Amino acid sequence: MIIVLKPNLSRKEEAAVLAEIKRLGYTPHVMRGVARTVVGAIGDEREHASLEALNAWPQVESVMRVQKRHKLVSREAHPQNSTVTTRGVVIGGPKFVVMAGPCSVESETQLMKTAEAVAKAGATVLRGGAFKPRTSPYEFQGLGEKGLKLLAKARKATGLPIITELLSEDHAEMVAEYADILQIGARNAQNFQLLIAAAKTGKPVLLKRGLAMKIEEWLLAGEYVLANNNRDLMFCERGIRTFETYTRNTLDLSTIPIVKRESHCPIVIDPSQGGGRADLVASFCKGAIAMGADARLIEVHPNPAEAWSDGAQQLSLEGFAQLMGELKPFIAAAGRE
Ligand code: PEP
Ligand code: MN
Repeated sequence: MIIVLKPNLSRKEEAAVLAEIKRLGYTPHVMRGVARTVVGAIGDEREHASLEALNAWPQVESVMRVQKRHKLVSREAHPQNSTVTTRGVVIGGPKFVVMAGPCSVESETQLMKTAEAVAKAGATVLRGGAFKPRTSPYEFQGLGEKGLKLLAKARKATGLPIITELLSEDHAEMVAEYADILQIGARNAQNFQLLIAAAKTGKPVLLKRGLAMKIEEWLLAGEYVLANNNRDLMFCERGIRTFETYTRNTLDLSTIPIVKRESHCPIVIDPSQGGGRADLVASFCKGAIAMGADARLIEVHPNPAEAWSDGAQQLSLEGFAQLMGELKPFIAAAGRE
């Protein structure tokens, strides 16, 4: 930490600050300039008590961090890319992974039809919400455990591992019993107790970015998963809330190279929630591939016009198959498989 002192302090006032720095476990190094004295407090900022409280001292002008607040998710901690493996599918490796399926699990026919079609087109993970975070309590809330059972059935039929949202700590054990990857939704991205519960199941965790979440906050939310002994974390950019109305959310592709630089964890793009429009999914995917995303999470429905949630952004089965073909040269150009 760097502590800038106010000018014209007496030696006694200065000594009190230095004593406090030492008391908190740091070694102070005093640098005297012409107009100001600056103190470098040497020590691991993440292990010692915070010096930020010094901001409240009358002798102190400002306190600045030197180290980043995230540790286990950071590239410094793990210079190589980390990968997440579930039932033989590797996310974060050379293969650009496709996770596809309906926004919500609605019925056995709807799910089976979708699962078979996306598997045939080349998806290797099946998505489907059984517990849905809906803005209104009067909207379809998901089939709950019945939906999880259908997902397990679809996995059995197609061999695709499944990703589904964990909405509440109370469901952690139950959802983990069925799911291969736990999705933490945008609305829960800073629900720290939920993140801890998800981590403790030992299942891989896909952490969406919150609607108004800074990248630093997102990285720190991910830190909760790794700090709870679960190394299988993926970040998922799904758009943030802005003033724009052409799109449901503003898909922030700039997070891809930033998260890649800051963290070793894979990054996934959700172009479906990202724009809220099926007609934008292909363009968003192309951009995401070019920028280095490791996977995409995409909504597909046999009849989007009759979907019980997010109809406007879901691709039809044919639309999805077409997209898979259209993206091939982009994936190859990005040096991925
Ligand atoms: C979803 O994937 O259907 C979903 C609800 O996502 P998000 O949490 O990003 O809104
Ligand atoms: Mn959705």
